[in-house]
Amino acid sequence: MNSDIKEIAKILSEAGIRPSAQRIAILRYLTTHFTHPTVDDIYKELIQDYPTISRTTIYNTLRLLVGSGKILALGIDPANQRYDAAIHDHGHFMCNNCGSIIDIEIEQWPQIPIDTKVSQTQLLYHGICRECYTKQ
Ligand code: ZN
Ligand code: MN
Repeated sequence: MNSDIKEIAKILSEAGIRPSAQRIAILRYLTTHFTHPTVDDIYKELIQDYPTISRTTIYNTLRLLVGSGKILALGIDPANQRYDAAIHDHGHFMCNNCGSIIDIEIEQWPQIPIDTKVSQTQLLYHGICRECYTKQ
């Protein structure tokens, strides 16, 4: 077991998830692909190595990880929930043409002028990505 797998198993345990081989593979996919995948994206990739994996297993594992703050669920895509293992505060841009989502690093976040306790921030942009824009 290399240290990468050990670290992933530890994160799962902290989220109250028994670190089975399939669940380790799910979180490992997210920590190695910062493409903001859907459940289906992860399923299509992992089914090749884990023929018994189900979309339900993936969905349930992601839901528990989101609930314990280990990953983010992004509400940017009206068609699908998208997931992100990068949990530092950052914004996202989604291309309306190809559906790709890229990270936007925000140096200075807007100030909240009222006395509130913010538990989550999502800054979402929609538009056309550079690659699609230059193809037009
Ligand atoms: Zn695009
Ligand atoms: Mn991101």
